[in-house]
Amino acid sequence: MTQTVHAPTAPTASGPRVRPELVTEVPGPNSLAIHARREAAVPRGVGCALPVYIDYADGAWLTDVDGNRLLDLGSGIGVTTLGHTQPTVVAAAKEQLDRVSHTLFTVTPYENYVRLAERLGEHTPGSHAKKTFFVNSGAEAVENAVKIARAHTGRRVVAALDHAFHGRTNLTMAMNHRAAPYGTGFGPFAPDVQRVPNSYPFRDGLSGAEAAARTIEYLEQRIGVQDLAAVIAEPIQGEGGFVVPAEGYLPALQEWATANGVVFIADEIQAGLGRTGTWFASELFGLVPDLVLTAKGIADGLPLAGITGRAEIMDAAHVGGLGGTFGGNPVSIASAHAVLDLLETGEPFAEAARIERALVENLRDLASRFPEIGDIRGHGAMIAFELVEPGTTTPLAGLAGEIAAYAASQGLLLLTAGSYGNVIRFLPSLAVTSEQIEYAVEVIGEALARPRA
Ligand SMILES: *Cc1c(COP(=O)(O)O)cnc(C)c1O
Repeated sequence: MTQTVHAPTAPTASGPRVRPELVTEVPGPNSLAIHARREAAVPRGVGCALPVYIDYADGAWLTDVDGNRLLDLGSGIGVTTLGHTQPTVVAAAKEQLDRVSHTLFTVTPYENYVRLAERLGEHTPGSHAKKTFFVNSGAEAVENAVKIARAHTGRRVVAALDHAFHGRTNLTMAMNHRAAPYGTGFGPFAPDVQRVPNSYPFRDGLSGAEAAARTIEYLEQRIGVQDLAAVIAEPIQGEGGFVVPAEGYLPALQEWATANGVVFIADEIQAGLGRTGTWFASELFGLVPDLVLTAKGIADGLPLAGITGRAEIMDAAHVGGLGGTFGGNPVSIASAHAVLDLLETGEPFAEAARIERALVENLRDLASRFPEIGDIRGHGAMIAFELVEPGTTTPLAGLAGEIAAYAASQGLLLLTAGSYGNVIRFLPSLAVTSEQIEYAVEVIGEALARPRA
């Protein structure tokens, strides 16, 4: 196959391109040919939402190997928050690659790691002294947060919430709400992990205080504080379907954790770093967690994850107890500095607020025509809607898949989510325009108007 030269999406006379540009069916013949090879070379366990093979990307656009230009409303699951191939991020990575790409921070260190630790300490919630260290993936950040919490408390058990997702390693599989597809057949699982009820206003109807009281009752009765090292919560649950907890729920849990010597970990891997229109989603709820986990959007596409927390907790692990060969790779770190430079201008937060307004306004209009849309929720560029039998909370899982499939046929990449598979979630890059959002919601309306099986 010939190599396509990277050609950023040209703005049209009337502004940026709004609609996808399809030159074949989706997927096209070149994608299908690669997909056939993949089926022989890559195990089926590595799933595939849409077998469209991407050649290059810019902003909110993906260009596939058939020359189709697709509008990306998923950003690789909330990773390329500032847009694909964001120029200053790319320049920072290239510059670092020429300088040094690896030494291993625990062998011979480098300054940009220390500086990123300082910057995350400044921007995560709370003005207390903080320390940070870096690993490669979200799951690895969760694993290390649990190690640190256990070392700090001398206790064993970690509690995760219903509808949580924390990763695909052995420990994090045990923490996920859903066995299928994440854990089924892969046991035995790590012991000393318990799941407790969350706050899910659309389904439980509880206030934040009521939901927190229920969670705390489980923590006290099923685990007992003397054995509980940590509680981990996503401030807005990602894979669970962008579940936004009721007002007051998270601060009540943190208050209880503090009073009982339990480490409170905020998994901000999907919601953090500008995604919700704030530095961290915790801020939306007045939450100041003990430990904050970052990954996905931190380096706009390069692999990196961080564990940031109270200095005295972070120092509980003994010398040599934390590390990893690639953790805090200098190229990923350089990209993360470029991301933070952009976030510090404040512009991305304004873009996230604009995207929230455009999405919510258009989706409310759609919900007035289609009663299957039972709930619209989220913050910033992290918005979802839940599909139910009209007037009930009975999930309509098939419909979410049908909408995503129809959208893909129109050149629109949409992600589904939710423990019941009935949620359509938007995780666009902040480069997406309001006109593109309006168009995307129009396509969803077409999908909803189609006759259903
Ligand atoms: C994606 C995700 C993880 C796991 O991150 P990986 O980099 O895939 O290991 C953990 N927690 C949350 C909230 C996530 O969205």
